[in-house]
Amino acid sequence: MDLIPSFSVDHTKIVPGIFISRQDDVGGNVVTTYDVRVTKPNVEPAVDVAAMHSLEHIIATYLRNDEDWKDQVIYWGPMGCLTGFYLILKGGHKPQEIHDLLLRAFESVKDVDEVPGALPVNCGNYRLHNLELAKRQAAAFAKYLSDNADNPDIFEYPKADRLVTEDGRQFFDS
Ligand SMILES: [Zn+2]
Repeated sequence: MDLIPSFSVDHTKIVPGIFISRQDDVGGNVVTTYDVRVTKPNVEPAVDVAAMHSLEHIIATYLRNDEDWKDQVIYWGPMGCLTGFYLILKGGHKPQEIHDLLLRAFESVKDVDEVPGALPVNCGNYRLHNLELAKRQAAAFAKYLSDNADNPDIFEYPKADRLVTEDGRQFFDS
């Protein structure tokens, strides 16, 4: 398959959703990095850092236990800007193909009684968790994903020219 060349994203036009940020050929296999954007950058409040950390644990656990997808999950983790997550999967699935997986993952948060792995032995900052805020954020995003399932804008990024720094290097946000 054709890999998607690296591009820059116009962050002023992003809406929340599920987007391919890049695809890489790793030893002849396609690996796809998705941006799972939870809030609208620079417009909506970013996700609370403790809630973000809890969602990192809860949704990583969900994805890595999902019977249909667990073998394809390489990585799930938070964006430094706290507006979403990075998801890396084996294969070249379209964002629409993982909509159901992510909807189920975020819907599952409401049933969680305690954040998995939130102990000093498992986590680098075990006090930095907020399950109640994580539940509120996850419920709002799950509703958004459900309401917008047929909206193509939540699956395709607004593209922009790549930024080049003064000394000629290209800027990458991930
Ligand atoms: Zn942790």
